[in-house]
Amino acid sequence: MEEIKLLSEDIINEIAAGEVIEKPSAVVKELIENSIDAKATNISIHIELGGIKKIIVSDDGIGIDKEYIFKAIQRHATSKMKNKTLENIVTLGFRGEALYSISNASELEIISKNKNMEEAWQINIAYGKILSNKPSKGTDGTQVIVKNLFENLPVRKKFLNSSRSEGMAIKNFVKKIALAYPKITFSFSHNKAEKLLLIGRQDEKSQKYRIKEVLGQEFIKSSVFIEQKKKEFHYTSHVSIPTFNKSNWKQTTIIINGRVIKDKALLGVIKAAYAGLLAGNRYPVVVMNINLDPQLLDINVHPSKTEVRILNRYLLNSSIIKNIREQFDKIGLRHSILDEKQLIRKFQIKNSTDLNQKTFEIPENPQKKFDEKKDNIYHKDESKEKFINHTLGSAKAQINNMFIVSQTNHSLILVDQHAAHERIVLENLKKSYYDNNVIRQISLIPVIVKLDDGKTELLESKKEIEKLGFIFEDYGDNSIIVRETPAILGKINISLLFEDLAEQIKKIGKINPLDTSIERILSSIACHNSVRAGRKLNIDEMNSILRLMEKTPNSGQCNHGRPTFIELKLSDVESLFGRT
Ligand code: ADP
Ligand code: MG
Repeated sequence: MEEIKLLSEDIINEIAAGEVIEKPSAVVKELIENSIDAKATNISIHIELGGIKKIIVSDDGIGIDKEYIFKAIQRHATSKMKNKTLENIVTLGFRGEALYSISNASELEIISKNKNMEEAWQINIAYGKILSNKPSKGTDGTQVIVKNLFENLPVRKKFLNSSRSEGMAIKNFVKKIALAYPKITFSFSHNKAEKLLLIGRQDEKSQKYRIKEVLGQEFIKSSVFIEQKKKEFHYTSHVSIPTFNKSNWKQTTIIINGRVIKDKALLGVIKAAYAGLLAGNRYPVVVMNINLDPQLLDINVHPSKTEVRILNRYLLNSSIIKNIREQFDKIGLRHSILDEKQLIRKFQIKNSTDLNQKTFEIPENPQKKFDEKKDNIYHKDESKEKFINHTLGSAKAQINNMFIVSQTNHSLILVDQHAAHERIVLENLKKSYYDNNVIRQISLIPVIVKLDDGKTELLESKKEIEKLGFIFEDYGDNSIIVRETPAILGKINISLLFEDLAEQIKKIGKINPLDTSIERILSSIACHNSVRAGRKLNIDEMNSILRLMEKTPNSGQCNHGRPTFIELKLSDVESLFGRT
């Protein structure tokens, strides 16, 4: 047997450093959390080369006393364990490991001043060795500078991603922590170029305002708000409606007791609330802020404290699901699987209550009004009736610019026009892609698309994407310019489409026409067709959608597995009126 030896002090330090701070964004996380614990109202973050070369985090918090500044960088040195127990932790830090780890893995400089000090104090440490310890210039608060991270840990350095994606991860974290602390002002810059400024607000609208700044007005408009106050927990959440969805969870932020948490279980719970409303590979965007009695929470399960354990999770989980579903029901989103009997019951309940409560306004001459409106209700042109024998019948009307109503000999049919059209577009794209004859349309004004991520991968698959009907080119920085798109998509939001496309391709690597990944790409493109819910159609357009559906394979389902149409037998309609 080999001899068992204790590790050397140096190696132990290296291992410890690697645990807490596995990448630049982890350093930024620890430093920002320290600033928050120090009650800062302004936190500014500046990074260079994705944080690998330099990270500066400055705050206007309480500062560190000159006599403690040394202690701060020692292992397990913290000012935050006031109760000497891990059970009632209210600060973000408590393990006293971050500054110690960072000081062992970088050139670290801390300049700090609290309000009792006349001048600021500065210490410099390089890879664990103290270089200097002296008075310095500086205002109240703390500035931490981290340079040349992991220079002494080549293995760790080797595993870092490109400075671009490390930088993205940092920016992403800043956005998330900013969502948790809307009263604090955050400013962020990368290589002096990319900038983000989020001004804190002190009023009760601060949270909503911050969400709008970080996730955009479109998210606010496409989300519902849920809230639950119970003895054990209190949460508020903005939850996107199913049609506002993304190809990953990146934009979702879960905050538990002020911490940005990565909690797979909770994401699973949220996803469960969308069952039947969202395809398996699509994800909602959620900002959820949960406050739990600290006693119910174990935050000490992960070195960087991004995972937690929650006691009695069940109550919280079921409350979240129930709340989300109720909100969706309220705003009138349907479940994908329609239980016809249930539908009939709903009709019957409506019938018996509504009439008693509301008084009817009886038109003076009912027949006259009826005749005036007749043109809108019926299309006299009998030739339109010729489709009555078709499976999807003859189009009669459109409801709410979303649904087509049609009639066959024996049933009433409701079609979800967007879902249906999506399927038609997908099948058409698929066929023309494989036949290599996608018909393109030229944009009058080429569209410049700025991509946060995935541009390289997009360019690598340029040839295959051209086969799909998109003509585009590199446009410098992180932009591309799009000149032509598949004609069948109509007028679309090209930026959104390319954002989605880039994400999909990044996930699967390179497009390979021979495997199933192409199906996924095609399906996400088809989502962007122009006949979305909300477009007014005339009877001819409706009929042509119905005829196309009849010819299109799989047209009973949209690309996400939802039905594209429902059929109500005339006998069911009769039973609604008690005729049977
Ligand atoms: P922890 O946050 O777990 O206590 P750290 O190593 O991150 O451990 O920090 C050690 C100590 O240094 C903190 O407990 C705190 O007293 C002090 N400190 C670190 N950063 C700041 C800051 N920005 N402002 C004031 N004090 C700080
Ligand atoms: Mg800390």
